[in-house]
Amino acid sequence: MFQFFEWNCPGDGSLWRQLAEKAVEIKNLGSTAVWMPPPYKCIGGGMDTGYGVYDLYDLGEFDQKGSVRTKYGTKDEYIAAVKAVQDAGMHAYVDVVLNHRMGGDETEEVEVEEISQDNRNIVQSPKYKIHAWSKFNFAGRGDKYSKLKWHWYHFNAFGANADAPGENKIYRVVGKNFSGEVCYEYGNFDYLMGADVDTYHPEVREDLFAWGRWIVETAKVDGFRLDAVKHIPHSFYRDWLTHLKEHFSDRELFAVAEYWSGNLEELEGYLAATEGLTRLFDVPLHYRLHEASKAGREFDLSKIFDGSLVQKNPLMAVTFVDNHDSQPGQSLESWVDDWFKPLAYALILLRREGYPVIFYGDYFGNNNEGQKLTSHRKLLDDFLQARAKYTYGDQHDYFDHPNCVGWVWSGDEEHPGSCVVLMSNGDNGTKRMKTYHGKATFRDITGHWIEPVTTDENGEADFHCPGGKVSVWCQV
Ligand code: CA
Repeated sequence: MFQFFEWNCPGDGSLWRQLAEKAVEIKNLGSTAVWMPPPYKCIGGGMDTGYGVYDLYDLGEFDQKGSVRTKYGTKDEYIAAVKAVQDAGMHAYVDVVLNHRMGGDETEEVEVEEISQDNRNIVQSPKYKIHAWSKFNFAGRGDKYSKLKWHWYHFNAFGANADAPGENKIYRVVGKNFSGEVCYEYGNFDYLMGADVDTYHPEVREDLFAWGRWIVETAKVDGFRLDAVKHIPHSFYRDWLTHLKEHFSDRELFAVAEYWSGNLEELEGYLAATEGLTRLFDVPLHYRLHEASKAGREFDLSKIFDGSLVQKNPLMAVTFVDNHDSQPGQSLESWVDDWFKPLAYALILLRREGYPVIFYGDYFGNNNEGQKLTSHRKLLDDFLQARAKYTYGDQHDYFDHPNCVGWVWSGDEEHPGSCVVLMSNGDNGTKRMKTYHGKATFRDITGHWIEPVTTDENGEADFHCPGGKVSVWCQV
């Protein structure tokens, strides 16, 4: 999967056109799917990255929030980009942000009680009335696609009071409770930001189910990336995905959810609760990669997969190194340092287990002042060529040293030729490894090691990698 955006992509409305132009190039890397950023109108209009949702039905079609287009372009350009992705032979996934809304058009008087930020089970004020930005009129769109106008009773809680601007509080609507089907961080993590959507409300459910059908029919997407699911009752997405898979029984709608937690048990709980309808991003693995990049040689590479979803449940794991949230300056900043990026990508791209994602920022880099991202394009291209040609047959592991680990691919009948991956987070590494085809010559396609290695008649040789790097030895 290719994640075709990073947080600071320019807000010039060009991303959908850029994707349409690059679709074949992305496909040729070996990608089978593209994760596209949220395509609908947000509070920040033409500059919003996509997670401050105002109107799900405005894909850059109506003059709302100061702009017709979104940060990425117009509705027509979005649909054209999806088609270009599919014409190139890939699937297109839409980013689905249903937890909250932002940018209400008018205030309404709402009776609330304040909830403690630190423990969401504690009510810390008497009931009183505020003015919440809870009325969503969608005046630019009118009744097209959906007649529902949102009011205070479609939400659980608000993060702002128009009578006391600047106060950072959680105001829960009197008579509403937070869901028991969410993450228990802070006691209860139903509330994340903005106006928290009450997904149990019948009008909300009806509209969000209808929107699911509408986005699939309108944009012809092949699947979903589900945002912030630890803040949404798990039965909601179980029901939503069941509904859409039944409604579109002739299509295979893929789903991957973002449950942002390093706790494997929580992820497994979510997988069970959603009955296998969605895969999950392997956040625990991301944290292991981040930790390894910070700890240098102190990190035990032989245990890098411990506690990860890909180790426990590889078929349900979508593996990634970094994304738009973990990049520097963002809400979940946990960036994998540049020196470790090659090792991290080898660990997701060159192994059998997991469905790996390449992050736009790691492939293309960016030129943003202060938050520059380094392009690892050359290396990723090398890895992807090796992946396409050599990652077949058996995968034999050598996770037998804290600073130097590797594995060997056997190849198969259609893809003859072994491949050896070896990495070190300490000194230069050398490991005696057994390949599969007797005497043969191997070259390090990363170019780190110039001299080829020749195996003996048992297929064995000493393979090498430089300290802090990864070498990929392919049979020539
Ligand atoms: Ca919520």
